[in-house]
Formats: sequence, C-alpha cells, structure tokens
Amino acid sequence: MDYLRRSWAQIDLDAIKANYHELKKQVSAACKTMAIVKADAYGHGDGYVSRALQEEGADWFGVSNINEAVSLRRQGITKPILILGFTPPALAGKLAAQNITQTVYSLDYAQELSKEAVKQQVKVNCHVKVDTGMSRIGFFAQSGHGEQAAQEIARTARLPGLSCTGIFTHFSCSDETAVSSREFTRRQFNIFMDTIGRLKNQDILFELHHCCNSAGVICYPQMHLDMVRLGNALYGLDPSDDCKGMIKLVPAMSLYTTVTMVKQVQQGAQVSYGRRYTAQEGEAVASLAIGYADGYRRNLSNKGRVILHGQYAPIIGTVCMDQTMVDVTGIEGVASGDTVTLVGEENGKKVTLDDFAKINGTINYEEACLIGRRVPRVYIQGGKEVAAVDYIIQNF
Ligand SMILES: *Cc1c(COP(=O)(O)O)cnc(C)c1O
Repeated sequence: MDYLRRSWAQIDLDAIKANYHELKKQVSAACKTMAIVKADAYGHGDGYVSRALQEEGADWFGVSNINEAVSLRRQGITKPILILGFTPPALAGKLAAQNITQTVYSLDYAQELSKEAVKQQVKVNCHVKVDTGMSRIGFFAQSGHGEQAAQEIARTARLPGLSCTGIFTHFSCSDETAVSSREFTRRQFNIFMDTIGRLKNQDILFELHHCCNSAGVICYPQMHLDMVRLGNALYGLDPSDDCKGMIKLVPAMSLYTTVTMVKQVQQGAQVSYGRRYTAQEGEAVASLAIGYADGYRRNLSNKGRVILHGQYAPIIGTVCMDQTMVDVTGIEGVASGDTVTLVGEENGKKVTLDDFAKINGTINYEEACLIGRRVPRVYIQGGKEVAAVDYIIQNF
C-alpha cells in the first residue's frame, strides 16, 4: 500500500464491523441502526468506514452538517442521511436534491426552512429534535413545557415545505450508572414519550422514534424504540468508564509513527523546547515523526509513553509541532526507520486513546477526533492493508 510512512492511523474495518454486529445484537430485529459518522467518523475516515457499515446493513447515517452529508453521498452512501445540527435554510434545495434529512429543532428554524423549501419548490425531509434535558438544540419540552413543545411541533409538522418523518431526543448522561443519572435518563425518556403521545392525540405521527446513543443501547434496552444511533461504540471506544466492558468492543484505531533519529546524549543534556527534561549520562533519545499538529497533543509532554520494539518508552521533554522525543535507553537496536506504536498493542503492552484522555483531562471521543488531517488513514481488513487515504494530497 502506497502512503506516507511518517505517521499513520490504522483503521481495522473488521473491528468496526464486529462492533456493529455486537451492538446490533443488543437491539430487536425490527430496530433500525443509524451509524453516526460525524467528524470524519470520529477521526476514522468517513468514506471507508461508512461503506463498510452500509455493506453490513446500517440503515441510516448521521452527520453534523451538510458538507459531511454531501461527502458521504460522493463516497457512495445511498442510505438515508440525517444532519444532526444546523443547516442554513437557504440550502433547502441542496438537502432535497441529495435526499438528506434535516433536523428541525425550533418553530422559528422550521418556518425558515419551510419558507425556503417552498420558494425553491422542494420538500425537505426532517426529523424533529425534542429537548428533554440536554438544553441544547431541540423543542423545549423540559419541566412542564411538554404541551407547548407539542403545539410547536404540530405546527412544524404541518408546514408545507417539510416532510417530518422522524422524532428524536438525546440523552445527557446515559453513560453514567449513578442512581441520579439513571433517574435523569428515565425522566428524559418519559418526557420524550409524553411529547409523542400529545402529538398522537392531534394525529401527528412519525415513522421513526429514536433516542439512544451508544451508551443508551448498552444500558437501556427498554428505550431502543424504532432506531438507535451508534457512535463511539462502533469504533470500539467505551462511552465512559461506567460502560467499560458491558459489551465486547474492539478498538478500531491504532496510531503509528517512525523513528527519525537516535542519539546518545551526555549527562545534563536538555531535551526539546523550554528545556523541560534533563537527560542522564548516556541516555538514548529517539526523535519521532509526530507532533501536536498531527493530534499528538502537547499535553503529553513528559507524561505519555509509546511502544518501541515491544517495550514502553516514555515521552521526554515537550511535544513539538512535528516531532516528539522518547527515552529509548535500554531498548535494544532502536534505529532510524523503526515503526513506533503510539496507540495500539504490541507484545502485551498497550496504549489506548483512553490513556491519552486521562492525561489530557478529556474523553476518548475528543482524542479520536483530534487525530490530524496530516495523518493518513490506512485501512486493514482480514489483517491486510486494503486502502489508504491521504487528506493532504486528496487521493480518495
Ligand atoms: C454524536 C451523537 C450520537 C452518537 O453518540 P455516541 O455517544 O458516540 O454513541 C448520537 N446522537 C446524537 C444526536 C449525536 O450528536
């Protein structure tokens, strides 16, 4: 496979397929699946990932915006696509032309979108978003506002430019097992069902009702409804520590880089910007071809570790924009050109995106999304490299 062997992310399509089927096993046969592939499939590359999932039977795809949706259409995705966030109403014609479903989340927005659709002589498919507890986009149905939300959604559903085929909500803490979090999720679900009931009383019906994200699928089997939205877990990442190990997930992404130079330094040599690391006599320092511009975050300076020749090597000094140094003292035969595991498993040693997240004070989702565009995505299937995408020279 021809790609730049500087730093690269290896994406195991078999892992993604296995995770899909593991999640699919949690839901009834009638329950549809929406593969959430926003943010370039959480950094895994939306084209190959989405095509693999489409082949496996994913019914819908979910993205954050219209450019991501158009990108999927260009890359061969023919299944319905839902945009989970904002699209300028002026793009009504483009939504309709590409058969992309838009989330409508307020009466104001729905009216503007409908007006543009009528003007452009199209009908836009929509799913209605209900705010049952996230307090972000969505018809506000929290704490006694159910009737008002239902009235506004009913008016939305009757707008001439829209065809409202689905209704959904999103959980804020379905990944937490604390009693108060479970109560909150149940309350969100009840508000959602109550809103649906109020609409039914006015003969406003929807084909698809959905509320579960990955954690919802794993923790709330009674809430799957007509469709589940599978994100993080598809990529083999645990939605949270609370959800860890509840179902068997295989991480799909590994990250590799290359040793560019190895040197023996003298006692007191200071490594990288700001001289934040001081070496011992005879310490072996390897420079690696990855830095924070690749999404290998600067916060890992003096904290993270890599795997080289099957052994851990600690990051020393500050992570630079394009380079990182590690201490390879005592690791036999390290040489320029060697492959280094930054995320993945080697010789029973392991570094995960969760490890990064702990050091960086964030969640594995963010770590996956931040892997840079400068890092080619290399796809493996049946243990063999089958494709590579290089965003810089756009060979996809
Ligand atoms: C991102 C997103 C999801 C997927 O969530 P995961 O926790 O990654 O499974 C589902 N629904 C909506 C509305 C989202 O924005």
